[in-house]
Amino acid sequence: MARPPDVADLVAQARRGEQRAVGRLISLVETDTAGGRALLREVAALLAPHSGQAHVVGLTGPPGVGKSTSTSALVTALRRRGRRVGVLAVDPSSPFSGGALLGDRVRMAEHATDPGVFIRSMASRGHLGGLAWSTPQALRVLDAAGCDVVLVETVGVGQSEVEVVALADTTVVLLAPGMGDGVQAAKAGILEVADVLAVNKADRHGAARTVRDLENAIAMGADDPGGWTRPVVSTVAVRAEGVDDLVAALDAHRAWLDDTGARARRRRARAAAEVEAITLEQVRARIGDLRGADALPGLADRVAAGELDPYRAADALLAAAGPDAGS
Ligand code: GDP
Repeated sequence: MARPPDVADLVAQARRGEQRAVGRLISLVETDTAGGRALLREVAALLAPHSGQAHVVGLTGPPGVGKSTSTSALVTALRRRGRRVGVLAVDPSSPFSGGALLGDRVRMAEHATDPGVFIRSMASRGHLGGLAWSTPQALRVLDAAGCDVVLVETVGVGQSEVEVVALADTTVVLLAPGMGDGVQAAKAGILEVADVLAVNKADRHGAARTVRDLENAIAMGADDPGGWTRPVVSTVAVRAEGVDDLVAALDAHRAWLDDTGARARRRRARAAAEVEAITLEQVRARIGDLRGADALPGLADRVAAGELDPYRAADALLAAAGPDAGS
């Protein structure tokens, strides 16, 4: 095995914005082997004081709607404003994580040589709570590296969307004409998760109508929590049209979050979810360890024989899982 990296050095280099160190740290926090976990803890402890600055923007929407095209156009627009940008492309359906930052991301290639852009794909490797476990840590790495904005784009579909939403300060839901009108979007609960709606492919027939439908649905919807009225922005991501409006909407939402204290509230809720995910993961790991030991088979025998009820057996197992030995 290679010698474990000097994590403190890596964090110092990442804080200076060195791309390689950022990439290596993200690889470390993605590792979930027993050996990796000790490093992961060290990284987490070193990063904790340096996070909380970046504006985390989640982009979600049906496949083919233009998420990756929009992400790339947003990177260009944000760089023009001198902001440092991180991109996490999260693909929960893929077992492959993006050690190579750009290999599979053709559209991102134009940003590859820009020292102010950090791009990374992540897979959740199918383990339970995978996104909840590793993505917040990857976000902290990018945050500590001085990213002003981190764009989190879902590449896959399904459940992941909900998890990505839970990670973001601002969630952009992308829709396209003909891919579900406003009423359908409202039914699917999309309006509730969106802070900003983008109707992409506005060069296509029916875009104006989709915008109108969404605006009507928003106007008729339940009251906006805290007084944020979700804007509907039209974009043609392939031509970078409307992207400045999208950036303006993101900035307005960020200002609203700060002014109303909503950002702090969201971050607290997120921290709670993160601690919960890590706790569950640890309990699971320790119970797993106990399967090989005497505790579970012994308890199972007694439950099967009717000597013990399963609830008390579970209590006993949790007690046996005991205090953390620092795994
Ligand atoms: P994703 O699956 O949501 O990431 O979507 P992509 O960004 O990969 O885009 C899917 C397809 O739609 C690609 O062929 C893009 O070139 C195309 N596309 C993206 N934005 C636009 C747009 O504004 N107008 C048109 N006509 N096509 C677009």
